[in-house]
Amino acid sequence: MILRPYAFISNGEFQMGAEFVLDEGRIVEVRPQSGLPDDYILSPAFVNVHSHLEYRGMQGMLEGGDFVEWIRRLIPVKAAQSAEEVAADCLVAAHENRATGVGWIGEHSDRVGAAAAMNAVGLRGRIFQEVITAGSMNDIDSKLDFVRGKAAHQTAILGDEVSLNPHATYSVDEGTLRSLSEKAAPLSIHAAESLYENQLIRHGAGPYAELERSLGLEPIALGMSVIEYLDQVGFLKPGNQLVHACDVSSSDLDLMAERGVSVAHCPRSNDYLGCPVAPVLEMVRRGIPVGLGLDSAASSGPVDFFAEMRSAVDASLRIGKALSPEQVWGMATTGGAASIGLGRWDLWPGSRAPLIAVEVPNVFSTEELIERGSPGVVRWITG
Ligand SMILES: [Zn+2]
Repeated sequence: MILRPYAFISNGEFQMGAEFVLDEGRIVEVRPQSGLPDDYILSPAFVNVHSHLEYRGMQGMLEGGDFVEWIRRLIPVKAAQSAEEVAADCLVAAHENRATGVGWIGEHSDRVGAAAAMNAVGLRGRIFQEVITAGSMNDIDSKLDFVRGKAAHQTAILGDEVSLNPHATYSVDEGTLRSLSEKAAPLSIHAAESLYENQLIRHGAGPYAELERSLGLEPIALGMSVIEYLDQVGFLKPGNQLVHACDVSSSDLDLMAERGVSVAHCPRSNDYLGCPVAPVLEMVRRGIPVGLGLDSAASSGPVDFFAEMRSAVDASLRIGKALSPEQVWGMATTGGAASIGLGRWDLWPGSRAPLIAVEVPNVFSTEELIERGSPGVVRWITG
């Protein structure tokens, strides 16, 4: 098969004049165009480095503005859902990920609907089964056994091992965080998403401290940042992923770069929940690998990779640390794949990326394509 797109985007760069020879769905040769081009733009599929398929049913349901208030609204809605509802929501979200051009997801699951949904729509990815020990401190071993059961259930369906991952520093006790961090990469944790986490870890104060007290725990002021705490418990190592990393200082960023952790950037969710804008340009300058994540529809809104890219550009402009559209498309594809260790994910021979066509006429830059794109203009070519 020969593909003759009128343009292609390679690691974010908009280019023209090439055709792509495919064999069994893989690019084997790239050469100068030898015939009339077709009316689409070729790109590697998107990599959604942070996802919660199971919250799709809560899209548009939970008021945003404040992270802790949002979590408080989410908990009762979640508790009222049946397993069938969770499975159905996961399936909708998995379909929508495919429709917007996602070829791989990094999925955080608290429950067990994701694996079957991913299989049903041919969506590849990795599942991180979440461990939350807050509220179960009297019997952590039983809680861990319960989560192991869920991970085993999803492993059996997915065919790949589903590992146990700490949900966040405010929801997992230090001992469990330490023992989970001993496991081999890749692990993933929500970190420094809102300002409240540093309040808790550094000062033992703020809304999370109140929450801990209500669960019978006395918060401890550790006098260090969330990122320093994660280093101390052994989580910061190459291949592990920090989700969000909004409230981070320049010394936190230096430590993250030194330890080789990656970041999942979820700009729409951060906006909706009133979190600080993540300093992504400063991460990139330090060589920290960054990918883009659609997070959950309950905080990000519709499953739409173009909307996420627009938000990433806009957020970076608001803090005066502009990311170029090319950098953002790179994070959505090649760079995002590298951030989670997927290997080659580009448009050259040897790449393992599935391919998408983006059908928007008369576009001549990555910026225009991000501006005008939507799930409706994506067509799958391979994968
Ligand atoms: Zn998340």
